[in-house]
Amino acid sequence: MGKVFVHSLGCQMNEVDSGKIRAQLALDGWTATDDPEQADLVLVNTCSVREKAVDKMHSTLGEYRRMKRSRPGMRVGIVGCVAQERGAELIKKYRDVDLVFGPDGVPKVRELVRASEQQRVLDTEFLDLEAYPFVQENDPLPSGIGAFVTIQKGCDNKCTFCIVPSTRGAEASRPHAQIVDEVRAMVDAGAREITLIGQNVNSYGLKTPGEITFAELLYRVAAVPGVQRIRYTTSHPRDMGPDVLRAHAEIEALCPQLHLPVQSGSNAVLRRMKRYYTREHYLKVVDELRRARPDIVLTTDVIVGFPGETDEDFEHTMSLLDEVGFVGSFSFKYSPRPGTPALKLQERGEVAPEVASARLLRYQDRQRELSTEWHRSLEGTEVDVLVEGPSRHDEGVVCGRTPGFAMVNFPGDVSLVGSTVRVRVTRGFTHSCRAEPVA
Ligand code: SF4
Repeated sequence: MGKVFVHSLGCQMNEVDSGKIRAQLALDGWTATDDPEQADLVLVNTCSVREKAVDKMHSTLGEYRRMKRSRPGMRVGIVGCVAQERGAELIKKYRDVDLVFGPDGVPKVRELVRASEQQRVLDTEFLDLEAYPFVQENDPLPSGIGAFVTIQKGCDNKCTFCIVPSTRGAEASRPHAQIVDEVRAMVDAGAREITLIGQNVNSYGLKTPGEITFAELLYRVAAVPGVQRIRYTTSHPRDMGPDVLRAHAEIEALCPQLHLPVQSGSNAVLRRMKRYYTREHYLKVVDELRRARPDIVLTTDVIVGFPGETDEDFEHTMSLLDEVGFVGSFSFKYSPRPGTPALKLQERGEVAPEVASARLLRYQDRQRELSTEWHRSLEGTEVDVLVEGPSRHDEGVVCGRTPGFAMVNFPGDVSLVGSTVRVRVTRGFTHSCRAEPVA
């Protein structure tokens, strides 16, 4: 059929969807390439979580449209969340784009690509949730030692700032047998670390009669021979139940690291975000997690400058950062998203851009200090590193992650990739550590 290049923007969910697109098109004879100049078909998998991501789509698309002008037979497509949100507008605006389809188009990418041979294609239909056709095909992460495995699609929460429910649709849980089969296939393909992904993994199975719970799923995945490490993302603090806490206490392979988005430390802001938990509840969950797994480390998501956020509200976010001691955060200024309820709040209570920028800087500065403190606290300790590959910076150095997700670089060669090596940390930095192998 030719060569296909998938340019993946945005989150891990998009990365997995891009893998599923490549894997499915391979069934029709398409060959995946890393070089768009060689591609007969270029698909840009897009993200609309913030306006900056949408701008990135337009600039990225510009490159491939230029390529197409010199190679008219080449096809270009826009996929993912921006395609879902603005499909009709995009196919009208870009006359040289051949196909546009949303995240629910991924399971039917073969027919959509075939149809684009004859005419331009626009597909933003959401598929029936009852028998949602989760795609089984996948390919391990480029490193080969890890794999993202989708356990659900969509989200039923209605956080007022978030566009995901309107771009990825309502929630559907994937049959656990399919998930366990894919985990087995990934392990057979060399993966040692499995990351279960979904928009709100804690609600897995709750709305599907006869399906198991997320905690039960963790035990099933841990029982697959060859699985050394398990991680999962993304969690919702409101749905972190006692069964999941017990799993953290009992499952050795379940890594002592969790990404638990809080978004704000202020109850007033959390109410307007419709997160349906309070600061106190979040801290209680953190406390319970630490009792279940004392070595657990936490990262989070934070939005500053949400409509109506006062100085006092922001101080609550700053104090929560210290109270929990997050080792890392994805932190952003509030970005108004089309069709989201928070837009109404923005009309009444916009935070001045310079105030939001100053808050973000202050938050990130403090987070950087905490990240450095954590990496330095590992100095002199022995940790197990699952080697992912050669260091990007130093010859004769390899890198990998600890169970706590710290990136560690130490002397070694690529024959160590896929193996777990005990090392002693010699130096901690802001985002990584250096170490020496323990004899
Ligand atoms: S839980 Fe909230 S923030 Fe997360 S994807 Fe769902 S609506 Fe968006």
